[in-house]
Amino acid sequence: TQLPKDTSSDNYCRTVERAAFSFVSPKQTSAPELLLLNNALAESLFIETQDHEHLAKLLTGNDLPEALMPYAMNYGGHQFGHWAGQLGDGRAINLVQLRDKDDALITLQLKGAGPTPYSRNADGLAVLRSSIREFLCSEAMYHLGIATTRALSLSLTGDKVTRDMFYDGHPKLELGAIVCRTSTSFMRFGSFQLPASRGDLTLLKQLVDYSITQDFPHLGEPNADVYLQWFSEICQRTCLLMVNWMRVGFVHGVMNTDNMSIIGETIDFGPYGWIDEFDLNWTPNTTDAQGKRYRFGAQPQIAQWNLFQLANAIYPLINEADGLNTQLSEFATNYERQWLEMMADKTGLVIKNQQADAALLEALETVLQETPTDMTIFYRLLASLPELSNEWQNHLAPAFYQDFTSAHWQVLNEWLVQYVSRLNQEQTSASQRKAMMNKVNPKYVLRNFLSQQAIKAAEQGQFDKLQTLYQLIQQPYDEQPEFEQEYFVKRPEWAKNKPGCSMLSCSS
Ligand code: AMP
Ligand code: MG
Ligand code: MG
Repeated sequence: TQLPKDTSSDNYCRTVERAAFSFVSPKQTSAPELLLLNNALAESLFIETQDHEHLAKLLTGNDLPEALMPYAMNYGGHQFGHWAGQLGDGRAINLVQLRDKDDALITLQLKGAGPTPYSRNADGLAVLRSSIREFLCSEAMYHLGIATTRALSLSLTGDKVTRDMFYDGHPKLELGAIVCRTSTSFMRFGSFQLPASRGDLTLLKQLVDYSITQDFPHLGEPNADVYLQWFSEICQRTCLLMVNWMRVGFVHGVMNTDNMSIIGETIDFGPYGWIDEFDLNWTPNTTDAQGKRYRFGAQPQIAQWNLFQLANAIYPLINEADGLNTQLSEFATNYERQWLEMMADKTGLVIKNQQADAALLEALETVLQETPTDMTIFYRLLASLPELSNEWQNHLAPAFYQDFTSAHWQVLNEWLVQYVSRLNQEQTSASQRKAMMNKVNPKYVLRNFLSQQAIKAAEQGQFDKLQTLYQLIQQPYDEQPEFEQEYFVKRPEWAKNKPGCSMLSCSS
């Protein structure tokens, strides 16, 4: 299904060389309607939120101020380990930059506002299902305190969109939707890879210099040393991002280099998933079912692989491999150190004794891997582990999945014995420890089946579940007792290996 080559507008598909973006016009839609508005974010951007009808037109690209010059960005990328050439914003259009209340320059970007020069053979549109997933997950990430692009609004376009749902194979008409998302930068590793792959060093240098002056101004005037520092900071930010994803049980699902933010934010919420039952080998992405390249536990290594591709791209500006190689190997040692710190936080170990605790903390991962245990519930319950060891099993039972056996309990119990003896070296009281642990172990994450329920209802015009979920994820570390019964729960059996719940494909 090749898109018609309508050269009367700038949006027709093409190869774009010696340019980092193309001016485009968002597609007009038949009946824009605002479904979700992020009021706090709108306020921080000084956006008037009274007139929803007007906002709906603005945030779907239907009615834009004359002065705006919307554009789609050009980039390439490695997809599933293979160089894919030019990709670009096939369904994303940047509208404008606004100064927020902290004086940061924030770009507003529409996702699903029609074809661009980078749409290749796709339609440039987005459906309600994937737009809800993007909106909720980016906000969940933000409220968890993890670097991410944000969601300002979610609108229906009023148009229908054809999608091949992977699980029944038949084309399906779905509701078209547009998320307006925001970030200080939408540049990806692939933004630099593309000009490098074409030998376009002029554009490559322009882009790196732009990134440094816009998003890394503290590094100073760009030169070869600064390029290396820039890369070093990207490594550090990416490292922190991986530690945080592993902390909360987030699996991105498509860590292609075109989905890696140059400022270390979580970006492009596609076939992502959240860990229910702890499993380092789990991936929500059915497109990746064979290789499981983007499985939960592989994310840090994949991040390093992606950084290696970025290093290759910018090498011509530095012309010296040692510095880049050093940064890449430091990524691995930094990750190891920060992962241990993170695990010590998750388990309430204040005395940081990394060498001695490494075995204990690594063993916990093995224990969770070997036992069918809900990650989120387990850590929350661990924070209030009873003193009497004969009460442990009952206390932790809400985290166990159905096939949890007495052999599993033995494995976990052995670890708990060691853990409690290690806790005895600590000075903190049980209640202090609980409070600290609950600050890093969320009580509520955006479980896949919860999103799916909210999506199903929204597709039928019922938005209560969506609103509730949106509210829930804004205080993920708080007890929120009113939500406990329905939302502090394991993945139900019916949602296991179910399309949309734990299985998603790339194309949505
Ligand atoms: P993703 O895996 O979502 O990051 O997408 C990979 C590439 O495909 C990017 O260049 C996207 O812009 C493009 N793409 C994904 N979905 C669409 C769509 N519906 N229309 C046009 N381009 C798309
Ligand atoms: Mg992408
Ligand atoms: Mg397990």
